[in-house]
Amino acid sequence: MGHPAERAAPERAVIPATGFEGRRVGVLGLARSGLAAARALAAGGAVPVCWDDGEAARAKAEAAGLELADLNREREVASLDRLIVSPGIPHLYPEPNPVVASAMAAGVPVDNDIGLFFQALGRLDEPPKVVAITGSNGKSTTTALIAHCLRHAGLPAQMGGNIGRGVFDLEPPGEGGVLVLELSSYQIELARTLAPDVAVFLNITPDHLDRHGGMGGYFAAKARLFLEGAPERAVIGVDEPEGVYLANRIEEPVRLSVERKLRTDGWTVFMNRNHLTEWRAGRQQAAVDMRQSLTLRGAHNHQNAAAAWAACRALGLAPRRIEAALMDFPGLAHRLERLGEADGVVYVNDSKATNADAAEKALMAYDNIRWIVGGRAKDGGIDVLRPLFGKVVKAYLVGEAAEAFARTLADRPHEVCGTIEAAVARASAEAAPGEVVLLAPACASFDQYPDFEARGEDFRAQVAPLLGGS
Ligand code: ADP
Repeated sequence: MGHPAERAAPERAVIPATGFEGRRVGVLGLARSGLAAARALAAGGAVPVCWDDGEAARAKAEAAGLELADLNREREVASLDRLIVSPGIPHLYPEPNPVVASAMAAGVPVDNDIGLFFQALGRLDEPPKVVAITGSNGKSTTTALIAHCLRHAGLPAQMGGNIGRGVFDLEPPGEGGVLVLELSSYQIELARTLAPDVAVFLNITPDHLDRHGGMGGYFAAKARLFLEGAPERAVIGVDEPEGVYLANRIEEPVRLSVERKLRTDGWTVFMNRNHLTEWRAGRQQAAVDMRQSLTLRGAHNHQNAAAAWAACRALGLAPRRIEAALMDFPGLAHRLERLGEADGVVYVNDSKATNADAAEKALMAYDNIRWIVGGRAKDGGIDVLRPLFGKVVKAYLVGEAAEAFARTLADRPHEVCGTIEAAVARASAEAAPGEVVLLAPACASFDQYPDFEARGEDFRAQVAPLLGGS
């Protein structure tokens, strides 16, 4: 019998996870990132020992030629050199997963794919530059935007992490390669090695507090990327006190704001009258009119653009190059995605707006809105959006929440349509030039769809014939 790695079907080149040659490394959680980590460990000469409580995930790993062992057995865990844990599995709060708890009790170092990956990169002959992005909101957009700007400038950039591909699914970077990694607080908290060249802290609002034992733990998790990761250059959003504090702990950060002009003696990027403005060493470097961008609309996207700007500048890109790239950024699917325009009516897909907070950003980004809203309601529904109802020409209500939202909208124009198909038909029939048909559901999708992507794809399919597409 061959080594598990030899039995596995030959695959494209991977970045090997080195440093554990001949040793048993546990991999707990066999979704995409776990499987990729296991393959990388095998490629690096380790013996990955895989487990997932879900049978389907185990079957997939077995089919890929990986060795399975029930890591719930203490003897198995104690035999490990290290345990790699998936981000969805709690390692401390609200309570540690039993396998993680027994690894810690047995003195087995616990890590994740991100830690393993940074360790592996450090051993490459030509390590790539790594840009890492964290924040409560806007991570994916900023990550995609940075990758887009780098590619636009001709650099071989790949993106991954919490977006798209797991880190060990990335191709081995060649000479001059740049990796742009979206990192969640869970991923950062558990990684034993963090070594980005440029790191971005976008913003922070309460989220995932059960997994971090509160706001302090959540912030501490994100702060590790900067305080332990020690990037050459940190880009820090300072519109919250946490960002102000973090920037203060770091040598020569680039400070970002979309709320106010920043001092111009350090290195700063901020929004000033719709212009993304960069100052460095007492001189203005650039001022870009963001009204020229069709996709980066709204203060939240200006924050993402400012962060991407700063990260690309930290990597040495010239302002003119970044500006050109920003202006032709196609946007990310389902996030305030401009599908197109027909008869003067613009169609926008913000299926990712699964709560009122996100829908608020969408309503703020446009005027004269025909708003397709509803799905499975979150606590509080759309009450907090009342101040923005004046921007809505009419609401088209879908999904389980339709009746409740109709009550909230009261005497504002609205219609219960039930499905997105019906809502698009009604909204497009009624829309006048200069108006926007906006899907911003402020709800989960699970009443009618498997996920927000499927909901957005349905919207896209309904809109396509109107745009003359297929
Ligand atoms: P993440 O990856 O952090 O979840 P995304 O880029 O996928 O963020 O954006 C998700 C949603 O969050 C968007 O549809 C938008 O409503 C909102 N959003 C995007 N960027 C920001 C930002 N900088 N600040 C606040 N909200 C944002």
